[in-house]
Amino acid sequence: MSNVLNKEAFILPEGVIYLDGNSLGPMPKSVPARVAQVMNEEWAQMLIGGWNKAGWMAMPMDIGDSVGRLIGAPKGSVVMGDTLSIKVYQALAAGVKMRPERRVILSDTGNFPSDLYMAEGLVGLLEQGYELRTVAPEEVAGAIGDDIAVVMLTEVDYRTGRMHDMKAITKLAHAAGAVMVWDLAHSAGAIPVDLAGSNCEFAVGCTYKYLNGGPGAPAFIYVRPDLADSAEPALSGWLGHANPFDFDLNYTPAKGVERMRCGTPPVLQLAALQEAMKVWEGVEMADLRTASIALQEQFIAEVERDVPELTLASPRDASLRGSQVSFRFEQGYAAMQAVIDRGVIGDFRAPDIMRFGFTPLYVDSADVSAAVAIIKDVMSNALWDNDAYKVRSRVT
Ligand SMILES: *Cc1c(COP(=O)(O)O)cnc(C)c1O
Repeated sequence: MSNVLNKEAFILPEGVIYLDGNSLGPMPKSVPARVAQVMNEEWAQMLIGGWNKAGWMAMPMDIGDSVGRLIGAPKGSVVMGDTLSIKVYQALAAGVKMRPERRVILSDTGNFPSDLYMAEGLVGLLEQGYELRTVAPEEVAGAIGDDIAVVMLTEVDYRTGRMHDMKAITKLAHAAGAVMVWDLAHSAGAIPVDLAGSNCEFAVGCTYKYLNGGPGAPAFIYVRPDLADSAEPALSGWLGHANPFDFDLNYTPAKGVERMRCGTPPVLQLAALQEAMKVWEGVEMADLRTASIALQEQFIAEVERDVPELTLASPRDASLRGSQVSFRFEQGYAAMQAVIDRGVIGDFRAPDIMRFGFTPLYVDSADVSAAVAIIKDVMSNALWDNDAYKVRSRVT
């Protein structure tokens, strides 16, 4: 295994152990200079000419290829833009259109709420008997029947890290004649993904988590290449048009996945992301996975040895977990605030989950031990039992 640790590539504040790269990745050191360059040399000097001269208009596809490499998608099959919630909507809408005789979108109760909300919104708009059906994650396989138009799942559960078997479930969906949509929010940059091998029709994900694109970084959508010229884009914006600068009054979708573009790309955010993607050059996802599992196993063993107050909420079998470990504790919110106050940053997910992300590009074994020592101090001395830690912030 080659070593994937590359701490020098990131800015990490002094005294911080960052176990929250699954919510917002830290900033790669070279990002500010690149964004400043786009502002000073491109926007300021080229003005509108930047769209052509600086290649701004090509960024959504160019960066799509770098993301595609990490998730096993062929060149030209991934495009960047909008937010993940929007990309979920696009994939679902296109999927439902591919099965006009069916009326059910199947998902699970472990899915991230926004994915379910977007499905609800779509179903409400379509009417005509459309339905969002959610079952427990372990019941998904049994719930895939011939009334299902689209199966929409997030591969790695945001709360517990539990993983769905992407290939097996896609196979079941296809056997039942359903379209498969995977959300890779907690997979891209976290675990090896073989999109092409899974044969799913659509995949979506975000880039501010494990891909370190920064707050508000654009999302991505993958359309299986054989469908990319026929999938119907529900959000038919001008930049997904075949010839946006013809200013036709009627919409004709572009060839390929570019039809999933909507409007003007966020150039400054794309520049930050493009620069951040450089840290992945030469990183093999299989090596990253090995390192991630080693950190997670160490963390679980040390927490269970030293912190009896916490109960493992993630699958114990590493092969069934993404790149995070969660523990339950009734006063989890206050406990996480106390831990953060002492320099170990993780996050809290209602009702009682303390979640820790493991990102081997900038977290090592010494960090894990140091983090556990702080968690132990907070728990064994009940340092969380302090009113200051019990006031919920807007973002947890
Ligand atoms: C993080 C996350 C989102 C967030 O969506 P945005 O539109 O980027 O805010 C959606 N779905 C899943 C599964 C996520 O993990």
